[in-house]
Amino acid sequence: MRIAFASGKGGTGKTTVAVNLAFFLAYSQQKVQYLDCDVEEPNGHIFLKPHIEGRTPVQIMVPVINQDLCINCGKCSSHCQFNALATLPNNVLLFPELCHGCGLCVRICPAGAITEGKREIGYIEKGRAIKDIEFVHGILNVGEPMAGPLINKVKGYYRDDCVQIIDAPPGTSCPVVKTIIDVDFVVMVTEPTPFGLHDLKIAVSVAQTINKPIGIVINRENGEFKPLMEYLSKNRLPILATLPEDRAIASHYSEGNLVIERLPLYIDNFMDLAVNIRRLLGKKTFG
Ligand code: SF4
Ligand code: SF4
Repeated sequence: MRIAFASGKGGTGKTTVAVNLAFFLAYSQQKVQYLDCDVEEPNGHIFLKPHIEGRTPVQIMVPVINQDLCINCGKCSSHCQFNALATLPNNVLLFPELCHGCGLCVRICPAGAITEGKREIGYIEKGRAIKDIEFVHGILNVGEPMAGPLINKVKGYYRDDCVQIIDAPPGTSCPVVKTIIDVDFVVMVTEPTPFGLHDLKIAVSVAQTINKPIGIVINRENGEFKPLMEYLSKNRLPILATLPEDRAIASHYSEGNLVIERLPLYIDNFMDLAVNIRRLLGKKTFG
């Protein structure tokens, strides 16, 4: 079972919910894999404290242009849909940060002037976390815009004999879609505020566009926020669990502690979450 944790914006508590559910399931004797696809700012490791066993650099293809062979036909730049190439009167310019490594220019150059080079965009670390959770995260190089290929590499570590808990990037852009496109279920974590609701609506519409089943976790609940409840009811979005506004949770978060390890009164909240996801997917177990 593959469950992604997403949110319309950062800071909603998405990672808090994901790491605590991973811990809860592992504690309940499930084999769990935690994959952090929030490659621009991965922080699951702060809570799950993995022992890192291996680090693998991730590279993408970039074209290398031999200006001596180039006949300045302009075919490569006119066909590159990412505007990563510009044909000037005497040479071809490459903007590596725009290149998606699709390889089209290499194939269509009539003069054989373009070959494949490599550019490192980040790396993957893999290890074992508490309760024997298998841990994988991708770390994008600072300033690197190409999150997608690194997310795909993290997903290459999927293990089907585990419950896969996937921390998606926040927001609603392309990396989020790349992360959730092949999951069984998306847990949207939101806050009961006007901003939270605004971003939740956009994130839900993205997940619905690709037909993903969605459930909601309301974090930092502090009394009923009517517009959120009306939106959820109108759109038939089930509430899987809630977590209250609690300074103790915030304090443990800031120290890198797991909520259910330090505040056992919240174990039931994560049990609700696990049971509701399973029920909505029509499964008797997570195995
Ligand atoms: S397609 Fe090849 S020959 Fe034409 S401009 Fe690009 S590099 Fe030069
Ligand atoms: S590899 Fe693809 S994205 Fe990169 S420059 Fe060539 S055509 Fe453009």
